[in-house]
Amino acid sequence: MIILAKYKLIPDEVNRNKRQVKSEEKSICPICLSEALNVIGTRNRRAINSNGEKLIIVIRRLKCSNCKKIHHELPDILVPYKRYLSKCIEAIIDGQGGRISCENSSIYRLKRWFKGIEAHIKGSLASIAAKMNSAIKMGGESSLKAIKTYVGNELGWLARAVRIVANTNNWVHTRFAFMA
Ligand SMILES: [Zn+2]
Repeated sequence: MIILAKYKLIPDEVNRNKRQVKSEEKSICPICLSEALNVIGTRNRRAINSNGEKLIIVIRRLKCSNCKKIHHELPDILVPYKRYLSKCIEAIIDGQGGRISCENSSIYRLKRWFKGIEAHIKGSLASIAAKMNSAIKMGGESSLKAIKTYVGNELGWLARAVRIVANTNNWVHTRFAFMA
């Protein structure tokens, strides 16, 4: 899994809910840090925006010619394995999901998902910060507060946190990691 921060979403000429992702950055293999990634295909990734509209995002499959691992390249509007756009999930976590067209059961599940993963995100950010000799030191704050301290608490904090964790090969599929 590789998360892009610089890209364009190109509307499809036939299907108006479909977008091609055009990367504007050089992806690096999260496993071996090689830049030798070859595009081996694409995949349609379904997503739901804040109006409840269904989108199809065409993402690239990349194969690292060094370690041979295959990675999907996601724009940072997406969160790995989640349908709702990152900004919708972020609003729900921040208690501002009222404007999002999302069923209560989905809101409940997304909140529960974040509760299950927030300590892992915090821990990953903390270990990366320590390797970079960051001056940020965490005390007994909540995981959410700590995450926002690492990546900044302005809008888009979830996308920034997900990008750092995924691109350093620290993302986990929560269904297997926490809910088994
Ligand atoms: Zn590799």
